[in-house]
Amino acid sequence: MSKIFCIANQKGGVGKTTTTVNLAAGLAKIGQRVLMVDLDPQGNATMGSGVDKRTLSLSVYDVLLESASVREAAVLSEKCGYHVLGANRDLAGAEVELVEVERREKRLKQALAEVDADFDFVLIDCPPSLSMLTLNGLCSAHGVIVPMQCEYFALEGLTDLVNTIKQVHANLNKDLQIIGLLRVMYDPRITLQQQVSDQLKAHFADKVFDTVIPRNVRLAEAPSYGLPGVVFDPSARGSQAFLAFASEMVQRIQRM
Ligand code: ADP
Ligand code: MG
Repeated sequence: MSKIFCIANQKGGVGKTTTTVNLAAGLAKIGQRVLMVDLDPQGNATMGSGVDKRTLSLSVYDVLLESASVREAAVLSEKCGYHVLGANRDLAGAEVELVEVERREKRLKQALAEVDADFDFVLIDCPPSLSMLTLNGLCSAHGVIVPMQCEYFALEGLTDLVNTIKQVHANLNKDLQIIGLLRVMYDPRITLQQQVSDQLKAHFADKVFDTVIPRNVRLAEAPSYGLPGVVFDPSARGSQAFLAFASEMVQRIQRM
């Protein structure tokens, strides 16, 4: 049975995609069978996994509209060691096309049920909004991983996300929980970041992952090579942190 996680935060540029592809690659490196689902029409997680979004014949769009199955539409990224259900601009139209259909927020969940035995982990990279696409992700998932920068406004944005997760939990998906907050792009030399990090721990306790992802230029360079940092330069500090995070996730799901 696969464990399904959304990587979500309604802010853009907070490290969702970086977290998704590096966690996927890290889990693959320790022998887990992983499917990465790109739910962002920008297709960054697709490109960052070595899959060209411009030449995809089938994508998550076809899966949401039930014109393809996950097995048909997912491709193996050989370099990265995990499967990719990719996205491109087509997906931007899905929002509108889904308005008319029944059980529109459960489309992804139903599609993933068919590959339940094929993967240990399904990681869903969400767009920076609380849209129908994100709702499909949240309805499919057992848990949410929230990457966040330790900055002043980070906590404010968290309230909206936590409320949305509570509503989805109450009305649509009883399995859903926040697995944890992941501190990313962390620079311990910045006092404010230390302070926000301490506040997070005081407030959310063991919902804050032990692993901290440092700001590391190799992680930012990797996407231009179509690779997660963990594959591009496994010895980089940021990559090592994501490998540690993959192990932490494996331990966490044993307790779920
Ligand atoms: P999101 O998916 O939330 O929009 P991204 O993962 O695309 O965010 O990250 C935003 C930018 O920050 C990208 O340019 C990415 O390469 C960079 N970045 C993400 N994490 C790190 C990190 N730990 N160190 C340095 N740069 C990072
Ligand atoms: Mg992104």
